[in-house]
Amino acid sequence: MTKQAPLQSSDTSPRSARRRVLIVGGVAGGASCAARLRRLDERAEIVVFDRGPYVSFANCGLPYYVGNVIADERTLLVASAETFRERFNVAVHTETEVTSIDLAARTVTLRDLRAGVTRQDSYDVLVLSPGAAPIRPPLPGVDLPGVFAVRSIPDSRRIRAWIADRGAKTAVVVGGGFIGLEMVENLVHRELSVSVLEKLPQVMPPLDPEMAVPVMQHLQAAGVRLQLGDGLVGIEAVRGGGLIVAAESGARLPADLVILAIGVRPETSLAQQAGLRIGARGGIVVDAQMRTSDPHIWAVGDVVEVADVLTGQETVLPLAGPANRQGRVAAESIAGRVTRFRGVQATAVVGVLGMTVASTGASEKGLRRAGTTDFEKVYLHPGHHAGYYPGARPIHLKLLFSVPDGRILGAQAVGMEGVEKRIDVIATAIQFNATVHDLAAAELCYAPQFGAAKDPVNLAGMLAENVLNGDMPLADWAQLGDTEALLVDVREPAEFAAGHVPAAINLPLSQLRDRYAELPKDREVWLSCGVGQRAYYATRFLLQHGYRPRNLSGGYTTYQALKAARLVR
Ligand code: FAD
Repeated sequence: MTKQAPLQSSDTSPRSARRRVLIVGGVAGGASCAARLRRLDERAEIVVFDRGPYVSFANCGLPYYVGNVIADERTLLVASAETFRERFNVAVHTETEVTSIDLAARTVTLRDLRAGVTRQDSYDVLVLSPGAAPIRPPLPGVDLPGVFAVRSIPDSRRIRAWIADRGAKTAVVVGGGFIGLEMVENLVHRELSVSVLEKLPQVMPPLDPEMAVPVMQHLQAAGVRLQLGDGLVGIEAVRGGGLIVAAESGARLPADLVILAIGVRPETSLAQQAGLRIGARGGIVVDAQMRTSDPHIWAVGDVVEVADVLTGQETVLPLAGPANRQGRVAAESIAGRVTRFRGVQATAVVGVLGMTVASTGASEKGLRRAGTTDFEKVYLHPGHHAGYYPGARPIHLKLLFSVPDGRILGAQAVGMEGVEKRIDVIATAIQFNATVHDLAAAELCYAPQFGAAKDPVNLAGMLAENVLNGDMPLADWAQLGDTEALLVDVREPAEFAAGHVPAAINLPLSQLRDRYAELPKDREVWLSCGVGQRAYYATRFLLQHGYRPRNLSGGYTTYQALKAARLVR
């Protein structure tokens, strides 16, 4: 957990005039740390070891290299060993594995993987950034040829070669999270027929189930087969070539190649062997300066546990942004500057065959798991830019906020355009501990092709404000089956006829001023429309006429997603 107080005293005085800083892992966290430290300390001796053949490569680009969107492997190399030497005077040793640490002697054991030679090296400061390893479950067949995980350039190269050499036509991706879906996109791009096997009943586990529905529909529309709520049992080789992926349900999915993308676990073996403190979530425990339980050792990136800024709980968050920022914080701390890693809030985005899926902060299921009850949520489906300008596409947005103070807790958005921009604004607001009132009042850029005078972020804030100040009492979709309330759909009759919530009656907003007396005053009236806007107008009207209306947030669009996710009856 990222604690405020240092775990240890800060005496890291060098044993010689030049401080010797060794860094294990030269990609996101390690490379950032090395480069930043050089900018702060020209005298330090900085040495980076990586057991792979490259440092500072773009892991995040690997799926796109498989998909041939990135055709030239060299573009994945952000900085070479030569760049580090020439630009930063940092020595880089690739294909060199750090196999153990001696805390008392302040030495590491190194193994040169090319020569097979082992040697010792000493440090004043050690930085661990070894990342996280893809999980390979101990199931039959996971090591068969044709079964891949994606972590390194050589991994991606092997997948590309397998597709080309075997003329692969079908693939099964096990795991429907970020990396799994990026692999799906890229395999579809390579014209493979792709199935996803996912243990949960939804793809994109960080999202609430109803928010994952448009993603699943989009995948299916693109011809991707979704085998959800079903776990991997094993993989079998078929005589004559090919693989069969066996699932718990008994399903047997044929594949020319299989991608395992069921998550990663922090690479803590070195730290564990050395006796560094490991936390409950399986990552190295560090303080806010990224220092471990040993005063001479810092750790950054996928290998550490850090605080979730919203819950205060420790978490592991294997994402590139935090790894880079932590590398910078560690360098500043090593250089003696006052610095602090703020924690994480799980801001993430993924592209899925043209659709964008992004989220930040807590999800509803995460809040419920943590026992939080004093929160509310609004759904909205605004266009990504002004409706009158051609090409507006809906953004499905869910905003979670605490009650009654309105602090923003999290947001999820799915759509074809403008999604990540809205989530980034809300993510920034969360970092400043902002409330929904701040979102309502935020001044955001607008021209017709980019947004709306009331941007979706403003709208989300305004809706939430309406809930907090009583202007728009909400009804809970989940209670549809149990309510005594009268359900009223205020869309026009043709819209109602095309599909509506069972048990709802139709009283169009356009007729409400003439017919409102037909509604009961002694019962709650739950109002819905297409996306929630007309129901809101109806709510305001009825409130001012002495009725007890509630708005079903997000309207029939949200209802359909909730129904598909089996969250409403
Ligand atoms: P890494 O970048 O993984 O670097 C660890 C390095 O340490 C490796 O090169 C490894 O060889 C080396 N190493 C490990 N042990 C030793 C040892 N004992 N001795 C020497 N060297 C060692 N994040 C995002 O935010 N957005 C994305 O779009 C995104 N896409 C991704 C796609 C893929 C396919 C993958 C695999 C990851 C993606 N990530 C993404 C996650 C992101 O890449 C990681 O969070 C980030 O790289 C972590 O940085 P790190 O420094 O902790 O570890």
